[in-house]
Amino acid sequence: MKVIVLGAGIVGVTSAYQLAKAGHDVTVVDRQSGPALETSFANAGEVSFGYCSPWAAPGIPMKAMKWLFMKHAPLILRPKLDMAMLSWMARMLSNCTSERYAINKSRMLRLADYSRIALADLRAETGIAYDERMQGTLQLFRTQQQLESSAKDVKALAADGIPYEVLDRDGCVRFEPALRHVRDKIVGGLLTPKDETGDCFKFTNALAAKAAALGVRFAYGTTIKALDVEAGRVRGVITDRERMSAEAVVVALGSYSPLLLKPLGIRLPVYPVKGYSLTIPITDASRAPESTVMDETYKIAITRLGDRIRVGGMAEISGYTNDLGLARRSTLEHSVTDLFPGGDISKASFWSGLRPMTPDGTPVIGPTKIAGLFLNTGHGTLGWTMSTGSARLIGDLVGGRQPEIDARDLAISRYG
Ligand SMILES: Cc1cc2nc3c(=O)[nH]c(=O)nc-3n(C[C@H](O)[C@H](O)[C@H](O)COP(=O)(O)OP(=O)(O)OC[C@H]3O[C@@H](n4cnc5c(N)ncnc54)[C@H](O)[C@@H]3O)c2cc1C
Repeated sequence: MKVIVLGAGIVGVTSAYQLAKAGHDVTVVDRQSGPALETSFANAGEVSFGYCSPWAAPGIPMKAMKWLFMKHAPLILRPKLDMAMLSWMARMLSNCTSERYAINKSRMLRLADYSRIALADLRAETGIAYDERMQGTLQLFRTQQQLESSAKDVKALAADGIPYEVLDRDGCVRFEPALRHVRDKIVGGLLTPKDETGDCFKFTNALAAKAAALGVRFAYGTTIKALDVEAGRVRGVITDRERMSAEAVVVALGSYSPLLLKPLGIRLPVYPVKGYSLTIPITDASRAPESTVMDETYKIAITRLGDRIRVGGMAEISGYTNDLGLARRSTLEHSVTDLFPGGDISKASFWSGLRPMTPDGTPVIGPTKIAGLFLNTGHGTLGWTMSTGSARLIGDLVGGRQPEIDARDLAISRYG
């Protein structure tokens, strides 16, 4: 079957690879000059199969109020008279109940666990290297209150059968020896040892090359203008260069997905939530993290990627803008230098990206009301983590095969 995948981020490229492997004739279209040049470019590098939860959680509305007034705030809100923003925020708040949280988390964990298997399979079959490590995520608590409130996460991990360890200060230092310099700042930690780390940009580029070897064509520098739909069936896409025909189209445009779907009457509740990262060359490996340390106070992830440290975080709700605020940079610098002092941050590169967030945290994967039109988007905070399983699912759904995990509640129909 002729399939067009829209978007060459991690989600589009993994989808294209799986579709080509299943024997389809695949073309990927992207406005950029290569793979992973938007949100998949410099994310925090966590492949967090265990540390995987929706942001909409009980207690978050109260915490959000406090965060808004912190100097190094994890949340920045720039409200506008934008119906998409306001209705997304209202839906996000309505997901902050215990019941919704449990449902949303179990969906994310199901997909993350499937992604763990899919990523291991991809590594084995392609031999791709991407500064990967398999050493776990350490959620680091600086206060007793943080440690105590992690009890609900511990309960959820235990219920879902995800391996974890609660560590005291010495345990944290044993896991991340560079923390010995700041041991007095640490109260304890929660380790999810099965989590992995890796460079999403390197992985996407390497997998795009493997996909090309399977016959996938990449139309870069091509802006998608509209979907070509006739009599309730997708016929292809209209770009700034040409009309391209296909029997199936997979939308993997990250934060931009809803803009293309709106004219067709498909209301996809995905909104851009901006995050920032710093990439710092390592000058003294004994002072750098070994894996991911998640600084709970600022909600910032500090990850070892080969000979670099990636520091990523913050949630800024300000619409479709990629500008780089210096105050955000200082928050990232503050977190990393406070926990891992001694690095040279003057050589760091600063970046921002738009997380394609759904209000319930779970991506949207599956068919639409238009025959042949599929969605694989809305991966939000954990698109790198959940991409490989999502791609395998979309490969099965487009090909009309029974998916290996239940995917019915991942489709857009869950929003009614
Ligand atoms: C600061 C930060 C830290 C993060 N940390 C992590 C992490 O540690 N672990 C994790 O799992 N996830 C993390 N994420 C989330 C993850 O990066 C995203 O979920 C993921 O990259 C989304 O991938 P995507 O392919 O859906 O979107 P994108 O990578 O944005 O790809 C979409 C593509 O569509 C193209 N496009 C859009 N519109 C058009 C158009 N009209 N015409 C042509 N092309 C178009 C774009 O050029 C782009 O290449 C983080 C995100 C941020 C911002």
